[in-house]
Amino acid sequence: MGLIVQKFGGTSVRDRDRIFNVARIVADTHRAGNDVVVVVSAQGDTTDDLIAKAAEITHDPSAREMDMLLATGEQISISLLAMALNAIGCNAVSLTGWQAGFHTDRAYTKARISRMDTERISSELERNRVVVVAGFQGIDKLDDITTLGRGGSDTSAVAIAASLHADRCQIYTDVEGVYTADPRKVPRAKKLEEITFDEMLELASLGAQVLNNRSVELAKKFNVPLEVLSSLNPIPGTIVKEATNVEGMLIKGVAKDADISVISIMNVPDVPGMSFKVFGLMAQKSINVDVILQSTGRDGNKDLSFTVATGDAEMAVKVLEENKSRFGGTEITRDDSCAKVSIVGAGMQSHSGVASSMFEALANNDINIKMISTSEIKVSVILAKKDADRAVSAIHDMLIH
Ligand code: ADP
Ligand code: ASP
Ligand code: MG
Repeated sequence: MGLIVQKFGGTSVRDRDRIFNVARIVADTHRAGNDVVVVVSAQGDTTDDLIAKAAEITHDPSAREMDMLLATGEQISISLLAMALNAIGCNAVSLTGWQAGFHTDRAYTKARISRMDTERISSELERNRVVVVAGFQGIDKLDDITTLGRGGSDTSAVAIAASLHADRCQIYTDVEGVYTADPRKVPRAKKLEEITFDEMLELASLGAQVLNNRSVELAKKFNVPLEVLSSLNPIPGTIVKEATNVEGMLIKGVAKDADISVISIMNVPDVPGMSFKVFGLMAQKSINVDVILQSTGRDGNKDLSFTVATGDAEMAVKVLEENKSRFGGTEITRDDSCAKVSIVGAGMQSHSGVASSMFEALANNDINIKMISTSEIKVSVILAKKDADRAVSAIHDMLIH
């Protein structure tokens, strides 16, 4: 008995049958004597469909109006799930993000939670109701609706679990847990019984969409007991938790992120302060820069390449073009044909040969590496998008047995 937060993603609430399936899981948890808060995403491809609808109107919609539109998807799911729960005799109430107390900053379409005010949720729980909360959305200080970025319902669930000191936060999805690679792409991928917050954070940040990276960051910060499991197959999933075995080294997974663009600036002067000027501009626009490659200087000039999320690439090129006179450079290019493939595992730096095995797997398959970046917990390579799935399989076969 305790307080349990359960989150169900889009596929898990896709249609009537799936909604009743979720209702049964929730009702069983409630009948076992637990307080239950349920967080749901929009049904199936609803969010993508809404984005497509906006594109029919304009290619440059205001971010505020996008959030107003996208938040409707989750509102459909919460009401339908609450109806289903009530229909099977489980007392439930649905709350939108703002009713549930999600206060965010004003960064529409990628807002961050600034404060949780869980009074309403608590009072509904006291009335012995299951509380069904719309994921992915909140409200800013002007009472405008905001959304937390794609995959943001995971973050909503963890934020509630952290605020209410929940005993468990269960992320129900369409696979049976966290695997060593995307099980839909790599059939030999293995389910992990457990994974550390740090490893999961890397995997999520490097493209394993099974958990949103901000949700893992939050879970780590507040030590939220997190579990990823299937809404269709009632078997134990993957536990995400603090590290216990610090010395051991195991590659936990291979991840792919196809949503990257390489921005290059040719012939920038090879002088102190250049990186500060370029990356300062990116920071001003809240654009995250990932892998950075700088060529050796020649004739007092060098080339600078770096990766950003494809969604930020247009803005990145625009501010660079606008400020070109401040840093020089002959040409700014953008390449969307790349992807990032990464291996993740704690303690990588103290185990030699891991990176070279990864490169060997790529060499054996004739896959060219364009950029490399390493840390103590991961090795990432940038390569052609068309080679990415082959690369993930080859690296998985070489390093995970
Ligand atoms: P939900 O709608 O439940 O939030 P998502 O589509 O966001 O589900 O995330 C689940 C998907 O993540 C899976 O269907 C799977 O294809 C993908 N995925 C990518 N990498 C991994 C991984 N390492 N382990 C498990 N699933 C992964
Ligand atoms: N519905 C939102 C999305 O598709 C949020 C989520 O599913 O977590 O990104
Ligand atoms: Mg998701």
